[in-house]
Amino acid sequence: MHAGRYAPSPSGDLHLGNLRTGMLAWLFARWSGREFLLRFEDLDAERTVEGAEAQQLEDLHAVGLTFDSQHGHSSIRQSERLSLYTRAIEQLTESGLTFECFCSRKDIREATRAPHATPGVYPGTCRNLSEAERAHRRAERPASLRLRADRDDDGAAPQVSAQDLLLGEITAGVDDFVLQRNDGAPAYNLAVVVDDHLTGVDQVVRADDLAASAPSQAYLRGLLYGTEAASEVVYAHVPLVLNADGRRLAKRDGAVTRSALREQGLKDEALREMLLDSLGLPAGTLAAALESFDPASLPREPWVFRPTDL
Ligand SMILES: [Zn+2]
Repeated sequence: MHAGRYAPSPSGDLHLGNLRTGMLAWLFARWSGREFLLRFEDLDAERTVEGAEAQQLEDLHAVGLTFDSQHGHSSIRQSERLSLYTRAIEQLTESGLTFECFCSRKDIREATRAPHATPGVYPGTCRNLSEAERAHRRAERPASLRLRADRDDDGAAPQVSAQDLLLGEITAGVDDFVLQRNDGAPAYNLAVVVDDHLTGVDQVVRADDLAASAPSQAYLRGLLYGTEAASEVVYAHVPLVLNADGRRLAKRDGAVTRSALREQGLKDEALREMLLDSLGLPAGTLAAALESFDPASLPREPWVFRPTDL
């Protein structure tokens, strides 16, 4: 199966930026003959809001998105798939591709201030601890699990590329990123890679603030499922929606959710057409917009939304 997906976190109402990215993900999937799947990324229990899933689904339907079912379900939920993530982490550990890390954020911040360190890159502090050192550290602090990424002779991270339909080739060094947090929860990058592969997702459309994680995810997909599986994935990182100050649109920007816009009298058809217009697509249904859809003609600049424009 070949599929695209939309994967919101059920942490509240979707705002216009989320709805626009969802619409783009639908258009890319249908344009390329793919199925389109919905996945709720609810691993962070503290951020999950009761009732948000149902509201998000209603909002996505209201702007015209349709989803294909998976094993009889209209969506999947990451919190119900923990055993799959555990199995993937075990597989990597058995291959010697993980290590326990006892660093706090502060430890890493301080270590990357050292003269030879690369800012923001894990300095490798716990890569080569002895069993005795690990036992000692475990008594002080629970470990997270990091990926033991390959290193060249100079200790440099592997350069990995991912193909993006809008940005071209995205290349970055792959860090020893976290696979399992020190509270035992699977990390975002791990869960995404496992879910995408196991549900047949080979097209990933999402906001361009996530572009930098594509090489790491492609690398992990290759380790878990083979380089062929990794190279089949195409990405499209789409421009964000910004507020009048040029910052990423957020709920605090006022009436930016479907329910708030409805209160101001904006009907669902008008909301859909406003989003289509922001993409340079004609007013009407999504099926009609699909006829004119061409990734090459999509706007490459962020869309600036001012609630007062309505
Ligand atoms: Zn560490």
